[in-house]
Amino acid sequence: MRPGAAARGAVLLCSVLLAGLLATHPESAAERHTAHAQRDTLRAAPVAAARQAANPARAGGGCPRGSFPAGKRPSSDERWYPPVKGYKLTARFASSGERWSHRHTGQDFAVKSGTPVRSVGAGTVVRSSCGGSFGNQIVVRHANGFYTQYAHLSLLQVRKGRRVAPGQQIGLSGNSGNTTGPHLHFEVRRTPNPESATNPVAWLRHRGVSL
Ligand SMILES: [Zn+2]
Repeated sequence: MRPGAAARGAVLLCSVLLAGLLATHPESAAERHTAHAQRDTLRAAPVAAARQAANPARAGGGCPRGSFPAGKRPSSDERWYPPVKGYKLTARFASSGERWSHRHTGQDFAVKSGTPVRSVGAGTVVRSSCGGSFGNQIVVRHANGFYTQYAHLSLLQVRKGRRVAPGQQIGLSGNSGNTTGPHLHFEVRRTPNPESATNPVAWLRHRGVSL
């Protein structure tokens, strides 16, 4: 065979292979894409809902987060607010019951899921996390050395490190974690840990907030 003929043969072979690829590849890729899209659509709703019910902390592969609500600018003034509006006080600090292994470490505020939750005072977010018996929770450190905790949230709207103003919305109330119904569990602590909890109603009253 002459060298030219061999080269022509190779070009021809390549053309046939390329034509074959062009004929099948785009089509199969499109099919694969459609199949993925359908599967994702089918999968997303029921599985996400089931996961949300079983463990809200892990829904969507992470904590349920929303954007930081516009409004108050961070400041360090000394005003204090109740953590929610339109509440009914339910389980009190230090009350005992089968729901708690020792004593209740916070004050419960019965509110509908989705109620805006506010930082009671100016501070810095030191925790914004999900999972465990507190569910989705935020802990804020205040300038006076105390920490406040907001638990069982449905949505976290601040991340760790964010400075918040007094009364700044930080999330939405919910029913995540170990609860028997929608409410806000609110704690005041001397350290970031629950063992150091103190009576939040008395603590707020001391700062001019009567619940
Ligand atoms: Zn509680």
